[in-house]
Amino acid sequence: MLLPTCQYEWYGYPPSNFKCSELVPEGVPQCTFHDKNYLKDDNYEKHKEEVARRFREKLKEYSSNNMPLQFIGYCLPEISLEREQLTELLYFNSATFYGTVNFSHATFSEEAYFIGTTFFKGTHFNDATFSKGANFFEAKFLGEAHFSGATFSGVAAFQLVKFSRVYFRAAIFSEYGLFASAEFFKIADLELYSTKKHTFLEPNSPGRKIHPLLKLNFLEMLSLLKRNSTKKHTLVELHFQIELIFQEYS
Ligand SMILES: [Zn+2]
Repeated sequence: MLLPTCQYEWYGYPPSNFKCSELVPEGVPQCTFHDKNYLKDDNYEKHKEEVARRFREKLKEYSSNNMPLQFIGYCLPEISLEREQLTELLYFNSATFYGTVNFSHATFSEEAYFIGTTFFKGTHFNDATFSKGANFFEAKFLGEAHFSGATFSGVAAFQLVKFSRVYFRAAIFSEYGLFASAEFFKIADLELYSTKKHTFLEPNSPGRKIHPLLKLNFLEMLSLLKRNSTKKHTLVELHFQIELIFQEYS
């Protein structure tokens, strides 16, 4: 008898829509990746290894068939993809990571989408290479988020992202870094380098006087933040909303 498939569907852009094709037992509406209770509370310890293993299998299945890596809406435990070469389009839209996520030194050859993704624990993108766009629109980082040493060759979109503690030490942006309405709640350790010169503009308030700070380029802004910081090192404690768009000097 043919087993039914998981009922999870996602509509949005990109990739326009997604229908989970995982097989499920008769009468079970969603697969273990999409069942929100499968890793909740006491279930976490019980199921984390099984879900992590099945996630690796899914990644292998997609990769070996040169298919887009679609993990849309997945609920995932602690995952390590350290030094992984991710050569296909990658979607973690609306996914939830309940454990630590490690993408340190990983390479994303195609666009990587983390739209609306929730990271409950520490997130490590240290020295990761995003060769095309990196889209974290509306993502939530509830634990520490490490992007130190990361390289963004395409547009890096962090609009409406909520950061708790975030580290962008020596991160390199060679295209636009978009941080409009991103919120920094605890610590933002920013040391952003750009291979282009950027200005800071407020996108949603035409005619509004631009704060002098917003006219500075990345490094000038950084040194100002450092000077104003009460700490000895580069940590800057911030709790404010920024509305900045980094735009290339004409
Ligand atoms: Zn599913």
